[in-house]
Amino acid sequence: MAMSRSIGKGTNAPVKDDTEIAKLLNLLRNLPDDERRFGMLKRIAGDGGKLTPKWAPADQVGYVYWPGLDRATRELFDSDLSYLADRDYLRREHHDRITRCPACRSHNLNIREVCVSCGSTNLASQPMLHHYRCGYVGAVGTFGTEGDARVCPKCDGILRHIGTDHEVVGEQFTCRRCFASFEDPNVEGHCMSCGERTLAEKLVFDDVFEFEMTNLGHAAVRSGRLFDREDEQMTEPDLPLYRRQVAMSLLREEVRRQARYKIPFSALVIRTRPPGGSAEGERAVVKRIRDKLRDVDHLGRYNDDVVLVMLPATPEAGARVVLDRMLGRVSEESGARVSGTVVTFADADHVDVALDNASRQV
Ligand SMILES: [Zn+2]
Ligand SMILES: [Zn+2]
Ligand SMILES: [Zn+2]
Repeated sequence: MAMSRSIGKGTNAPVKDDTEIAKLLNLLRNLPDDERRFGMLKRIAGDGGKLTPKWAPADQVGYVYWPGLDRATRELFDSDLSYLADRDYLRREHHDRITRCPACRSHNLNIREVCVSCGSTNLASQPMLHHYRCGYVGAVGTFGTEGDARVCPKCDGILRHIGTDHEVVGEQFTCRRCFASFEDPNVEGHCMSCGERTLAEKLVFDDVFEFEMTNLGHAAVRSGRLFDREDEQMTEPDLPLYRRQVAMSLLREEVRRQARYKIPFSALVIRTRPPGGSAEGERAVVKRIRDKLRDVDHLGRYNDDVVLVMLPATPEAGARVVLDRMLGRVSEESGARVSGTVVTFADADHVDVALDNASRQV
C-alpha cells in the first residue's frame, strides 16, 4: 500500500486502491475538457488498458466505473467515457445486462414466483406424478400410501419405482391465499424503491459496458494528447484510413444510397495485421492497400487488426477480382500474410451482422 503510493504519485503506474484513484480522478475534474479526457485515457492505460464496471448495490445506477466519486463528477466522467468511445480511443464491449423497474429505473428488485390469479407470493408446491399404467397425472398429495409405496387414486395400482412405473412431470403450485392451483406460476419483480410490481416479461434491461483501449487510444497516450484537431478528426494519425465511427457511418450511407438507386455495392474486409504482427507492419500494409484503390473507394478502420474497403458501384464478382488482385500484390510487396473477404449488404439495418461475420472469416 505504502509502496504503491510512492510509485503511483505522478506516474502511470497502476494504483489499486479505490480511494487513491478517486483522489487522482478528482484532480482531473477541474481541468479543461481535452486535458481531462486525455487524463482519463492515460489513467485507463495505466490501469492495464481496460475499464470494467463494478457492481454497487447501494448506488442508484447499480454499478460504477470508479468508486468514491460524487454524482456530478461521475456524470461528467461517464460522458467523457462516451466521448472517448465515440471517437474510437476506447472500444465499448458488452459486460452484462442489468434488470430495472420500468417505473423508476431502480435495480433494487425482488424477483419471485406469484399466484397467477391473485398475485400472492404465499405459494406451496408439490411434485406432480404420472402413473404409466393408467395415465393418471396428479399432485403427489392425491396419491395414497401403502408402506413406502404410493397408491394411484385412479386405478389403485402401486407405484414402486420412479422411471419404471411412474415419473415426475413437473410441479403443482397452490396459492395459500386464494387456493388456486396451477403448474406455471407468474414471475414478478417487486421494486424495493417505488413499490411497483411488474411481470418478468415487462421488466426492462440496460446494457452495461466495459471499455478497452484501441490502437488509436494507445497512440494518443504515446503522443501526449487526443487527436481532436479539426484536420485529425476523420482519419487515424498519419494514415489514409477513416476512423471506425466515421467509416461505419460512411458505409451505412453508401448502403442506403446504392439501395435507393439500385446500384450494386460491395465492401472488402481485410485483416491487415496477422496474429502477432506489429503496429508498424500494419501501417505499411494499410498504405499499400490505399495505393491500390480508386479515388472513389473509401478505406476505414473496422477493428485494431481489420480494415474495411468500400467499393461504390461494384458488384460482388467485380469486388472479388479487386480483392484477389489486391491481396496478391499487397502480400508480395509487404511480405505480410494479408487475408480478406467480400461482403455485400441486404440493407443498412444488417450492416453490423454482415461485417461481424465477415471479420471472423478473415
Ligand atoms: Zn392466489
Ligand atoms: Zn393408476
Ligand atoms: Zn420502481
